[in-house]
Amino acid sequence: VPELPDVEGFRRSFVEHAVGRAVRSVWVDPTILRNAPEDAVRAALIGHRFEEPERRGKWLICWTDGPAILLHFGMTGHLVSSRDEPERHRWDRLALVLDDGEELRYRNMRKLGGLWLVHDASEVGGIVGRLGPDALRVTRSDFERRVRRRRGGLKAALMDQSFVSGVGNIFADEILWQARLHPRRPVPSLSDEERRVLFARMRSILRRASAVDDDHAAQPRWLARVRGRPDTTCPRCGTPLRRATVAGRTTYWCPACQPEAEES
Ligand SMILES: [Zn+2]
Repeated sequence: VPELPDVEGFRRSFVEHAVGRAVRSVWVDPTILRNAPEDAVRAALIGHRFEEPERRGKWLICWTDGPAILLHFGMTGHLVSSRDEPERHRWDRLALVLDDGEELRYRNMRKLGGLWLVHDASEVGGIVGRLGPDALRVTRSDFERRVRRRRGGLKAALMDQSFVSGVGNIFADEILWQARLHPRRPVPSLSDEERRVLFARMRSILRRASAVDDDHAAQPRWLARVRGRPDTTCPRCGTPLRRATVAGRTTYWCPACQPEAEES
């Protein structure tokens, strides 16, 4: 599932393959279009040149010297260049044919997410919704101020895109496991030290994961590697992991490393 570090990788890929190039033609599967018909998307893009794209949380905003397309990768989306794969794939939903003949494709098996067209920056907010500061760029003081104002459980807060944007289910579990905090821990019960650790772990995990491209073995996803296996144990202490639905999502935690706190 694409989360912030994955979309950061797609942003870099977009810079490498598309920035500075003009759109020669566009092929799109209309079932991924969310706010404009095929003809409008084609007419808006053809002849325009891509500029620096922008990532906001899990959104990629691909600006041209005119309009922009907004891509959301849902559960299974990613970008593929024709330099790496000459043939189109049946799960390709968009192909941007660029002036040097290269094609940049948006592939998405399950078609969650999709493509939106905007004509200027003022339209972006209405589509991406109210996003909190990006989890990779939020400052320590802003993060701690938000945590102090927040009610409810910790995992729900991390996954709330209006709290901080970019963290999803897998990384929320990873951050909480590394910070040794229980996913249902009430946010107001965190100590100053726990708030500092939470911020530091979130920052280091997302930075390390975003800096690495394809070498998943080097990524700080210890829990992700053991998720879903039978008899899963904590990669740190060997205790069998717990699994339950927290904040609406399947959640793993270590009952030894992440004890449930007493009621505050
Ligand atoms: Zn443990």
